[in-house]
Amino acid sequence: MTVKALSVASEVFPLVKTGGLADVAGALPAALKPHGVETVTLIPGYPAVMRELSRGEVVRTYTDVIGAPMRAIRGNARGIDVIALDAPALYARDGGPYADPAGRDWPDNWRRYAALGIAAADLARTQGFDIVHAHDWQGAMAPVYLRFSDGAKPKALVTIHNMAFPGRFEASIFPALKLPPAAYAIDGVEFYGGVGFLKGGLWAADAVTTVSPTYAEEILKPEFGMGFEGLIAARRKSVFGIVNGIDTAIWNPAADPALASIFDVETLELRAENRSAVETAFGLTGDGPIFCVVSRLTLQKGMDVLADVADALVETGGRLALLGSGDPALEAAFRTAALRHPGRIGVKIGYDEKLSHRMQGGADAILIPSRFEPCGLTQLCGLRYGCVPIAARTGGLADTIIDANAAALSAGVATGILFDGVATESLARAIRRAVEIFADAPAWRALQVQGMTADVSWSASAKAYAGLYARLIKG
Ligand code: ADP
Repeated sequence: MTVKALSVASEVFPLVKTGGLADVAGALPAALKPHGVETVTLIPGYPAVMRELSRGEVVRTYTDVIGAPMRAIRGNARGIDVIALDAPALYARDGGPYADPAGRDWPDNWRRYAALGIAAADLARTQGFDIVHAHDWQGAMAPVYLRFSDGAKPKALVTIHNMAFPGRFEASIFPALKLPPAAYAIDGVEFYGGVGFLKGGLWAADAVTTVSPTYAEEILKPEFGMGFEGLIAARRKSVFGIVNGIDTAIWNPAADPALASIFDVETLELRAENRSAVETAFGLTGDGPIFCVVSRLTLQKGMDVLADVADALVETGGRLALLGSGDPALEAAFRTAALRHPGRIGVKIGYDEKLSHRMQGGADAILIPSRFEPCGLTQLCGLRYGCVPIAARTGGLADTIIDANAAALSAGVATGILFDGVATESLARAIRRAVEIFADAPAWRALQVQGMTADVSWSASAKAYAGLYARLIKG
């Protein structure tokens, strides 16, 4: 039997991407196919989506979805089966999916993503879907609208990619949501005196997943739960951790067109050419291990701690190539660090997909000192590309990296370096450990090979999602 799934996502690679959510929404449909799941992705009709849409067929027309006319157009966009929501008043704007070109959140984001939820609930019902799989706060109103309206109720699953984004708005928007008054309650969308989109979804969904088993445990604690810990505890039996994979066709060092030289475990020496390309791109000179960073520059990612450790990194003989953007103060801190250490620290502020592949294919290690990390994808790319991850022991990082302690090294299973507690001393120590192992070429090579042969694909996790869909549908 084929299961028909409607994936409700605010970004999907390669159409629109601001982070890992897009990668997951982009890769999961293909990974689910062998398990008998046919996925259609419901996505707002941003310009980048509407431009790519081909063979479009209007499947629903709405005259008024909380104030905006909207058409649901089913078609294909860059290989993805989509239903795009053509609603120019809501989505036809320059800038990012959530913010204007100056980086300010759109003031009507609540309307834009409530509309996504309303359309999702209607389309799930009218287009014969068996299950709605909603992602993060932007998709989370789908199960709420299913719950509070009449008609068939396909099962609904919400996946939390990052608990730090609750989609919380002033209570004054509630009447415009066109939900019954009863929905403004603990059993509904009320969240600390306002309207919580993620809250509503976590309450209304038949099941909740998050993107790693460790994060699923962590969010039961106040320091990770961001105010949701009580609700997560109440729903504990329906909360599952399923670790993300990466698209191993896109992230394939043996066939990656972004690389100066392709390579695999048998031809690891060919990586040297990519390493030179990283040196050139970041103006690095001399020698010593190249640590790289591909990240949003935020406190979540521990980038303030890394900025504090930059001098120590150089003192150990290491070099740093950093690609990222985010907090202006952190951007400035890294720019200054690069000025202090010409040839040893190179910094590119921005977003560059191609360069991120080159860095994974040429740097020796990738630093991920996140304070919390629901799953994290860059460590998975690093593993696959022989770029050894050095990461905080939290969330998905703890689940996907095997620390190079003495036992793991001698057993030949270590794939990276994990450290506890995101602070300057612990990160500096982890970097020193990496420099020591790097000096022992066979030991470092073993780390790389063990990482490259670890399974970072979607296969096991897609099976887990398909199994969960089946259980929910069966009831
Ligand atoms: P998050 O979603 O919290 O930002 P993840 O590690 O889950 O973190 O996913 C981040 C994704 O975005 C990865 O695919 C990573 O390679 C990519 N990425 C992050 N910053 C940049 C950047 N500056 N340039 C290119 N790719 C980036």
